[in-house]
Order: sequence, then structure tokens, then C-alpha cells
Amino acid sequence: MGDARSDTDRRIGRRTLLVGGGAAAVGSAVLARAELARLWWRLPGVEKPRTAGAVDFPGARWVSASPANFRRADRPDDYAVDRVVVHVTQGSRGGAVKAFRDPGHGAAAHYVVGQDGGVTQMVRELDVAFHAGNRGYNERSVGIEHEGFVDRPQDFTDAMYAASARLAAVVCLRYGIPVDREHVVGHVEVPGTDHTDPGPHWDWERYLGLVRRARTVAENKKKNPAASPSAR
Ligand SMILES: [Zn+2]
Repeated sequence: MGDARSDTDRRIGRRTLLVGGGAAAVGSAVLARAELARLWWRLPGVEKPRTAGAVDFPGARWVSASPANFRRADRPDDYAVDRVVVHVTQGSRGGAVKAFRDPGHGAAAHYVVGQDGGVTQMVRELDVAFHAGNRGYNERSVGIEHEGFVDRPQDFTDAMYAASARLAAVVCLRYGIPVDREHVVGHVEVPGTDHTDPGPHWDWERYLGLVRRARTVAENKKKNPAASPSAR
């Protein structure tokens, strides 16, 4: 993470250029002030306020990853989020949670989904989790781990698929991510990775079907929160 500062500087530089480009039309003072309001918390010693223990997926259990395993950010304002990366833990949920809490592990995902369908959130979606082994992918994706082993198809339970699909649907809806194989990818497909997860037994067709269905449900709920089967 020695390069985190230069990365921030570069980003601010790019934004300054954008602000400058729009200044002629809109007025640079207003834009500069808006930009400052968004970036002030990046100054050394300044933290953007967060609600302790808050989760981005209702019903998820919050267990914080070690701060060494993710980078604070303000997504999607500073990085557009346009990918979901599917992982398999190669171990138990407890093992994954323990590893992501270990500052020496060097990696963590936003979510861990258990074989019982329980969802643990360990990094806020605001932040860049180190899960894909590729800086650009980390910056623009949400990482979902699944409890199990790539060579044990029986580990991918119905409850796990269903819970992960509900989670991925909410993420896709939140950032306008298309539910297709270009935007919902396996760790194995991330450029430069040597990981093979989720492996040949992960049923992509089934998963994307479940995500699409869950997204429709979530979309309808968002459009018409009062409507529910019991209200008919
Ligand atoms: Zn992985």
C-alpha cells in the first residue's frame, strides 16, 4: 500500500483536469467547491464519517476485515463499480473470516456467503477490497466469496446460490451493472490472476438466472414498496 498516496494524487490530478474542462461552461468556483467537498476527507488525518457496523446488504452480519486488507475509498464517486467477482474460499466460512481479519493475509472480499445462505460483510462497498489480485478490478468490483472447495460440487448448496444471487442482484441494481457474464465474472477470469475459483462446478447459467430473477424482485420492491403478496 506504499503506492496508495500517489494513486490518490493521480486521481485528483485527473479530476482537476475534468473540472478545468467544464469550467468554461459551468463556472469553475462552484465546481471547485463541489470537488473540494467531496475530497476534503482524503486529506491526511481526515476520515469520512461512517456508521460503525453498518452493512450494505440487509441481513448481512458485519465482521470487519483488517484495514490492511482493503483501502478506504468513496465508491462509486471515485471509482465506478461495474463488476461482481465470484470467488470460492477453498476452506470454511470461519477460515475465510479469520484470514480476512488477519493483517498479514493481504486480501479480503466484501462478502462471504456460507453454505447455509448466511451472508457476512467484511468490507464496505464504499471501499476497495483486495480480492481480485488486479488493482483495476479491485477498484471497480464487489467481491463475493463462497464457502467451499472448487473441486467439491456438493459445497455449492441451493441456499448458497439463492443467498448469493439475492446479494449480487442488489449490488447490480445499486450500480446499474448488467447481469451477464461480462460483468459478473469468476476470479479465474480476472486478467493476471493465478486463481482458478470458482472452478468448473460453479453453475453460471443457474446463478445468472437466479440473479436476474432476484433483481426483478428487488426492482419491483424498489418501485412499489407497499406491494407485497400479503397486501393483495
Ligand atoms: Zn478468488
